[in-house]
Amino acid sequence: MKDHVSRKAREIPPSGIRKFFDLIQEMEDVISLGVGEPDFATPWNICESSIYSIEQGATSYSSNRGMPALCEEVTRYLDRRFNLTYNPHKEIVITSGASEALDIAVRAIVDPGDEVLVAEPCYVAYAPNVILAGGHPVPVPCLEQDAFRLTADALVEAVSSRTKAVMINFPNNPTGGVMDAASLRAIIDIIVDHDLILISDEIYAELSYEAQHVAAATVGDAWERTITINGFSKAYAMTGWRVGYLCAPEALSDTALKIHQYVMLCAPVMGQVAAREALRHGDRARDEMISEYKMRRNLFVRGLNRIGLPCHMPQGAFYAFPSVGLTGLSDQEFAERLLTEEHVAVVPGSVFGTSGSGHIRCSYATSRENLKSALDRIEAFLSTL
Ligand code: PMP
Repeated sequence: MKDHVSRKAREIPPSGIRKFFDLIQEMEDVISLGVGEPDFATPWNICESSIYSIEQGATSYSSNRGMPALCEEVTRYLDRRFNLTYNPHKEIVITSGASEALDIAVRAIVDPGDEVLVAEPCYVAYAPNVILAGGHPVPVPCLEQDAFRLTADALVEAVSSRTKAVMINFPNNPTGGVMDAASLRAIIDIIVDHDLILISDEIYAELSYEAQHVAAATVGDAWERTITINGFSKAYAMTGWRVGYLCAPEALSDTALKIHQYVMLCAPVMGQVAAREALRHGDRARDEMISEYKMRRNLFVRGLNRIGLPCHMPQGAFYAFPSVGLTGLSDQEFAERLLTEEHVAVVPGSVFGTSGSGHIRCSYATSRENLKSALDRIEAFLSTL
């Protein structure tokens, strides 16, 4: 039946992260720095709100857009945290995670043959999202020497007459890079000049350790051409609840809503109830988790540099992205040998695009004890090279 599979589906590779997960399943005593997921359980008040709503019988569909009370809560939150203004009844769609929001955002704007500039290294879903929509992803490298920011020069060089949109993610998975207002301004001017759409995945917005996160849509004239994507998985430790959202001016969000209606109908209602509680009473638990991530970051990144893996200090998200160039191994070889010889799982940087090669991604969303043991094991591994 292989011949019956669509060309587009054949073109996309299986996720390189999953490949490592499968290897880990067969091993014992593995310290995993591989998964991009908080190690905390969802705060109990959030769980309880959902349990209570089920007890009350709230088990049906919501409106396609999402529960009005959640839409209102999200727009209030975006305004209070990031000075970002959207109409809760017209300019937002509650989705099944940021994953669905990314997919329907791309499908809402891409026609066959359109190019989408993807700031790389990036989350593994971006290129497949564009390919499945019939478009061509065009990587735009964000280099370590620029603190993994997207520069105006790199963006201009990649624009062509077929470019439709630009996809960015800051704070970034996998580099931990962030964009300040000035660097955002420089790329937004180009996006406006070339009449492009900006898809800005801000799922790590709360995990910004040194400076307040700047929402792309608040910069210059970006708002009218930006699709802002966010969700609850990272900031509130809610990966399993599958709730995210997309905000955009009406013409764009209405189109995304139309697609969402047909593919998802609505986001899980139990998750929507929990998400509302997260925004209403989740600040304290969220901030406690974030200060713990910051301590882990400092411990782990200093440790990496001490043992001889040079690592840029990530400013956001929960990933360290050290270079393995000095070891003489490729990132794939490094990750595979580190797993088989020392039982530490990391993800090769090239999984996140060619500009990620020569690096490994280590998630520090795990306990300090694990991080210390992982550093010992990585040091032991380096000493054998
Ligand atoms: N965007 C980025 C950059 C991510 O890292 C992830 C999850 N790893 C997602 C989107 C998907 O998040 P969600 O759980 O909300 O679907």
